[in-house]
Amino acid sequence: AAVPAGTPAPPPAPHLFSDPAEIGALRGHLLAWYDRCKRDLPWRTLAATEPDADRRAYAVWVSEIMLQQTQVATVIDYYNRWMQKWPTLQALAQASLEEVNELWAGLGYYSRGKRLQEAAKKVVSELAGQMPRTAEDLQKLLPGVGRYTAGAIASISYGQATGVVDGNVIRVLCRLRCIGADSSSPAVIDQLWDMANALVDRSRPGDFNQALMELGATVCVPKAPLCGECPVKQHCRARCRKLFGKPAPVPDVEDCGKQPGEISVVALGLGLVVTVTFVFAGVGGCPLCPPPTEPWDSSLGVTNFPRKAAKKQPRVERTATCVLERRGCHGALEYLMVQRPSSGLLAGLWEFPSLLLAQDLQEEKQREVLADHLRAWTGWPVVAGGLRFIGEVVHIFSHIHQTYVVYSLHLDGDVTLDPTLSPSRWVTEEEFHASAVSTAMKKVL
Ligand code: SF4
Repeated sequence: AAVPAGTPAPPPAPHLFSDPAEIGALRGHLLAWYDRCKRDLPWRTLAATEPDADRRAYAVWVSEIMLQQTQVATVIDYYNRWMQKWPTLQALAQASLEEVNELWAGLGYYSRGKRLQEAAKKVVSELAGQMPRTAEDLQKLLPGVGRYTAGAIASISYGQATGVVDGNVIRVLCRLRCIGADSSSPAVIDQLWDMANALVDRSRPGDFNQALMELGATVCVPKAPLCGECPVKQHCRARCRKLFGKPAPVPDVEDCGKQPGEISVVALGLGLVVTVTFVFAGVGGCPLCPPPTEPWDSSLGVTNFPRKAAKKQPRVERTATCVLERRGCHGALEYLMVQRPSSGLLAGLWEFPSLLLAQDLQEEKQREVLADHLRAWTGWPVVAGGLRFIGEVVHIFSHIHQTYVVYSLHLDGDVTLDPTLSPSRWVTEEEFHASAVSTAMKKVL
């Protein structure tokens, strides 16, 4: 059949899994390893033992949202507390944002918890409490559920044969198939999704997806992958390239920058003698090879893959913050906290009164603007000289390099705050730690 004009050419064979026998073998090796070595994690236990599909999907969903940008070891405790407090969608739908933020405090990326709760409300009020049953519907109907999360929930909870692509999968697939083009580019991401969908095991899709991610998290790690222990090493073209010191051997090469430099050699693999052809990468306009300007670096070995365009530098900000304290009626110290707006960074969280500073402000000037801000806010005659400089706290958000310039001020007597301003409250140290406060504020205290 004629190929319509403008249809993108299929990627070169060396970057694909096109041999059904190899796909079958890879699935088998990976699943056998997963059965032997998988980590015992609470959401896995729930997914394997919960008979109700909605509860199972909810349990997986919560874990997937918490695991975005957060390490497994950190998530476990939060996950257990969350599932204990809100074991079902219905329970979560009745929670307040304040309660969600309190439980989420310290986990970072706070909008995740907020969106999870909003989506639970939606399932209860608009979908009669039933979770959508396919990856497509999950993504379409649930706020905050993207392609990855939808695929993970559908494959793990419902057994839908659909692949997933997250950071771990990107790394593993790029290495398995020597994909050196920018792995954050839409063209490469699309190819990786196609590959994940083609590879996923039809009878155990949830386990296969978790196995691929587990491999990336524990063996095919970013800096020092444990290739010797890898269950799919015989399928890995990056490893092959490293061992042979030459471009990846590709049985029966069709293209990928085919050029006069090709040579045929005989190599030993798995005890078999096979005839292979080496193909030079990064040439011939292959969309998945490393760009010619950044060729294979033999000192990096398999960690040549994946490659990403340089990250945007985080924005640099300085914020003056003041720990206002007083003696409470029981003699314990209390701190004044103010609530952030309900949208934007750290939405709805509590913080010490803070003020974003203009760049390059001298210390004396910082103190003055903070004193002005506090005076306007509290109605208390705060003077710059009364603020005690404590030190600086640096906190890195995903896109902001934030320095908090910390001052303190002790207040005697009562402060009546203007109720039209942001909500505020006095808390003891114990209450502070139980509140919805960010890790940055904990560092400030
Ligand atoms: Fe990753 Fe090494 Fe396994 Fe290849 S052999 S998939 S690089 S751990």
